[in-house]
Amino acid sequence: MQRFTSAKDAALTLRPDAPVYCFRPEVLTADAKAFMAAFPGETAYAVKTNGERMVLETLAKAGVATFDVASPGEFEAVRAVAPQAAMLYMHPVKAQSDINLALQTYGIRTLSLDHEDEVAKILRIVRALDLDPSTITLFIRLATKGHAAYELSKKFGAAPAHAVELLQRCERIGFKVGLCFHVGSQIEDPETYERALASADWVRARAGVTLAGLDVGGGFPAEYGHDPRRRKPEMPALPEIMERLRADIAAWGFEDVPLVAEPGRVVVARAFSLIVRVLLRKGRRLYINDGIWASLSDSWTGKITLPARFIPDPARKTRNGDPAQVTAFRVCGATCDSVDILSRPFWLPETVDTGDWIEIGHIGAYSLSLRTRFNGFYPDTFVEVETPFDAGDAPQGYASLETMAD
Ligand SMILES: *Cc1c(COP(=O)(O)O)cnc(C)c1O
Repeated sequence: MQRFTSAKDAALTLRPDAPVYCFRPEVLTADAKAFMAAFPGETAYAVKTNGERMVLETLAKAGVATFDVASPGEFEAVRAVAPQAAMLYMHPVKAQSDINLALQTYGIRTLSLDHEDEVAKILRIVRALDLDPSTITLFIRLATKGHAAYELSKKFGAAPAHAVELLQRCERIGFKVGLCFHVGSQIEDPETYERALASADWVRARAGVTLAGLDVGGGFPAEYGHDPRRRKPEMPALPEIMERLRADIAAWGFEDVPLVAEPGRVVVARAFSLIVRVLLRKGRRLYINDGIWASLSDSWTGKITLPARFIPDPARKTRNGDPAQVTAFRVCGATCDSVDILSRPFWLPETVDTGDWIEIGHIGAYSLSLRTRFNGFYPDTFVEVETPFDAGDAPQGYASLETMAD
């Protein structure tokens, strides 16, 4: 992979017409190590956030020894780069054939569930493979309530009384049992984990079983851009969230239970930026070579503020407007689909024009993992970049959370 000092160097050297992902392995290593140092248990990286080989390899090298996986594709991706790593199969609803593959071929011994029919499926395969249930840990997924940009308890999780029954049922069969939850992605309220821990404590007290583990899931917020016209959101940074989580874990009596976390976004968001090109400027509209069917579907929901840097094409000799003036542009994606328009405007210097580049920062999570081949566009060019996106001057642009009138 070609390596550059900055994304600007990469853009001006390569003059790319297709989107280019700028991978920062040093940033990924630092963010992974920071999480592992702050979390008082096992860190299991959530592979769905970004399962690129370069990411998994870098994480394994940084010391991540456990991965949260959900499908045969993810089992294989982890096995290929980290054959010794432990895998936690934390999808509560699994195909029977995938459970078999996990237990038989990949040696996975930790699974999650939120329903008794799932217990029956797992037990059938455990018996067929003649495995001792006490070598397997089943985590009961608890439904939680909280505030996150993406709420996941709408889809998965057993209500507390149901979780009590499931814990007892699994223990009676002879499995080791644990409790897990996932509060959703990019939490917006630091009390979210405490509410989940309180619920886990309630379930543990009623179930009367010994917990082999407590898995607090993911949801740790990544840092994104900031719209200068808005009040800065009062979400504390990771160190404060972790300090609070550690205190809550102690307060709810889970200090002596082996702990697991499944961070995704907070580990990988800063590790990538994306260079896109303005294919055409039409008034206040910018047509770019990426979009919601490629790297920008997560931002399309408008729940995060992506930071952006302007990389003007030096070959353009005349420009209109004031380069110091930032203004709102409607961003249209690469495909021939009218849905492929970002719902929120990008604020960029007024002078941006056809042929310029924009570096969109902090895009490592839920961007390239969500790419599609729709309309034949599939960004797949990578370079390595040394300088963190946030080094140097503040980014000029950002995706706004506000809507824009056409
Ligand atoms: C997606 C997911 C994660 C990762 O969530 P982040 O918000 O990216 O940290 C962790 N655990 C489970 C079960 C998930 O589905």
